[in-house]
Amino acid sequence: MKYNIEKINGIAEKLAEMVEEAIVQAGRTELQIGDVEMALRESLREIGCEALRCFLENAGGEIEGEIECECGGELKYQRQRAATIWSVFGKVKYKRAYYAGCRCGHGKAPVDERYGIKPGKVTAGLANLVGLSGIDKAFEDGKKWLRSFLLFEVSENTIRAETEQLGALQKKLDEELVQAMQDEAQLQKRECDQKQAPERLYGSIDAAKVRIEPRDEQEKALAGRENWRDLKIGCWYQGEIVPDRERSFRQKGKAQREGTVIRAKNKEYFCDIAPADKFGKLLWATGCSVDADHARVLIFVCDGAVWIWNLVNQYFPHAVQIVDWYHAEDHLKRVAEEAYSIPEQRQAWLKEITEDLWQGRVELVIAACQDLSKHSELARQAATYFSNNCERMRYAEFRSAGYLIGSGVVESGCKQIVSQRLKLPGAQWNLDGAILTAKARAAWLSGKWQSLLHARSLLPLAC
Ligand SMILES: [Zn+2]
Repeated sequence: MKYNIEKINGIAEKLAEMVEEAIVQAGRTELQIGDVEMALRESLREIGCEALRCFLENAGGEIEGEIECECGGELKYQRQRAATIWSVFGKVKYKRAYYAGCRCGHGKAPVDERYGIKPGKVTAGLANLVGLSGIDKAFEDGKKWLRSFLLFEVSENTIRAETEQLGALQKKLDEELVQAMQDEAQLQKRECDQKQAPERLYGSIDAAKVRIEPRDEQEKALAGRENWRDLKIGCWYQGEIVPDRERSFRQKGKAQREGTVIRAKNKEYFCDIAPADKFGKLLWATGCSVDADHARVLIFVCDGAVWIWNLVNQYFPHAVQIVDWYHAEDHLKRVAEEAYSIPEQRQAWLKEITEDLWQGRVELVIAACQDLSKHSELARQAATYFSNNCERMRYAEFRSAGYLIGSGVVESGCKQIVSQRLKLPGAQWNLDGAILTAKARAAWLSGKWQSLLHARSLLPLAC
C-alpha cells in the first residue's frame, strides 16, 4: 500500500513532540535511545488501538432502517452496539450498527461481517503472531516472548487456543482431502484435470515418540506414569542439485566424495498420531495432492521399519524403495562395535564392508554379517536386516541414477516438530493438543501458514 508521505511526516512530527513532552514531564534526564524507542513504540501502540477503533466506526457508512437477513427476512436497525476485539495493538472497543428483529431470531453487525471480525475474539493479525509463537515455543515461554514484541499480555491459554485452532483447521483440511481421495468420482475428475506430473518426486516417512499425559487414573494405571505415542510424519519433496557456490562446508566434503550434492525443495510435511492404516490414507491423499501417483519416477527413502514399507507397497507399489543410507551404515558400525574388540581390526572390517555397501554389493555385506553372527547377536540381526532390504540398498545404482539416498528431510521434520516443539521443557500434552500443535507446525514448515490463516478468516462468524 502507498501512503501520503506528507501526512505521515506530519503525524510523525506531532508524535515526536508528544513523546518529548512526556519525557520532560516524567522528569527523565539521562535518556538513551532505547528509552526513546520504547516511548515511541508504546505511543504507536496506543495510536494503533485508537486508529483501529476509528476505522471500524467509520466503516459502517450510512445507517439503514432495514437490511436483508440471510434467511430472506428483514432485520431492523437497533442501535450502535459496542464490541471488543483483541488486535495486534491490544484490546480495542468499538461501536457499530447492529440489526435485529428478524423472525428467525438472528441479528448482525454488517461491519463485523465485512471484516471477518468475531467480537470478543482475537483478530486475524494477532492470531498470526500468537500462532507463530505457539508452534515455536512452549506456551509459557511464548507469553513472555510475545510481551516484548507486542507490549501487552496474551495469556498462555490464548496462545494454546489459537495455535490449536490453526492445527484444527489443518486437521480439517487433511480430513477433507482424505475423504476426497477415497471418493471414486473425485479421483476420476482428477484424472481428467491432470496437469503435468512431476518428473521425479520423493516421499519419506518416519515416526518419533511424544509423551502424552494420561487423561484419568485408569489411563495412568494402564500406561504406567508415562504414555508415549508415535507421531508419524511424512514428507513429499523434490530434489535439486546444489550449485558450487551455495555448498556448505559439509556439502563440499560430500561433493568431493560423491560428485554432486542434491538438496530437497518444495517440502510438504504431514503428520498424525494414528494407527498405520489411518496414516496410510493421509499418505495416499497428500500424495495425490502432489501428483505422486503420476510422477514419472517416485522414490521413497525411509529407514527400515516394516510398517513404512507396507504402506509404500500398498499405496505406491511402483515406487523405487531406498533404505536411508545412514541407517544402513549405522547398522554396520554397531556390528563392528560388538564383534571386534581390537580397534585396528574393527576399523579395517568397517572400512571394507562400508565400501561394499556403498557400491551396492549387499550380498557381500550379508555374508560378512553371517560370518560374524556366531559371536555377535547384532551381526545376526544385521544379516536379516540386510537380507530383507537387499533390493532397497542398491546404492551404486541409485547414485548413478542421481537419487537422494538419505532420508534427512523427514528426520529433520521429526526434529523440528517433535524435538524442537513437542518435547520442549514445559510442554505437557493431551492427545489432541499434541496432534493439533504438530499439524500447525507441519503446515508452517511446509510453507502453508498463510493458507491456514486464510482458512481461519473464512470460518463462519459466531452468532
Ligand atoms: Zn432472519
